Amino acid sequence: MPYEATLPVFTADDAAAEINARFAPKDACGVIAHALTARGRIALVSSFGAESVVLLHMAAAVDRAVPVLFVETGMLFAETLSYQRRVAERLGLSNVRIVRPDPVQLLTRDTDGLLHQSDTDACCTLRKVEPLANALLPYDGWISGRKRIHGGQRIELELAEAEGERLKLNPLAHWSGTEIAAYMEAHDLPRHPLTAKGYGSIGCAPCTRAARPGEAPRAGRWPGQDKTECGIHFIDGKAVRP
Ligand code: SF4
Repeated sequence: MPYEATLPVFTADDAAAEINARFAPKDACGVIAHALTARGRIALVSSFGAESVVLLHMAAAVDRAVPVLFVETGMLFAETLSYQRRVAERLGLSNVRIVRPDPVQLLTRDTDGLLHQSDTDACCTLRKVEPLANALLPYDGWISGRKRIHGGQRIELELAEAEGERLKLNPLAHWSGTEIAAYMEAHDLPRHPLTAKGYGSIGCAPCTRAARPGEAPRAGRWPGQDKTECGIHFIDGKAVRP
């Protein structure tokens, strides 16, 4: 009987395990350089929020043409839109891709633009989850800015994880707020203008308030609700919300 050799199947789970074993927890630059040079088609997903510039700066040092996916929900602060342009120009990012909701779906499912007032999960699905899922289709993996210090379901984040068949990197997972601030200071990186007004985490304008003294950075997201994630992130292969 002829012998048929079978090649080992290298899954996203395998890749994540290898990266978690290979890199020191705080070696964010090492993880990013590895991802952008050795892991196929990788995109960086950025909200251009309070701490986003750190990851963008690290990625730009490897490749200024890295695809940066920016989900513009149509509900962002004007300050975020101007900050996005400012950061891209400062870092020389040449491949920022604005990801928007499908206009037909918007007209069908959020006719008055007030869906966020009645159903935030449905609104996030329409304005964030679906557009990003479509934008990620060409990629083998993506880089996110999630960190353990954000609390909630993020406290056990690892550097790398599998999201179905796609690899997901969280290079700053183990960084502290002090380390993030020190990196921005050391590289003289521009700050999101709303951080000076107390915003520790910045999402859509209708669903974000400034954090109060002593609160976790993401406490101002979806205030008054038990919702803590928009649904673009997964844990153990399952969407966090909805
Ligand atoms: S954060 Fe608020 S406005 Fe933005 S997509 Fe989600 S529910 Fe809609």
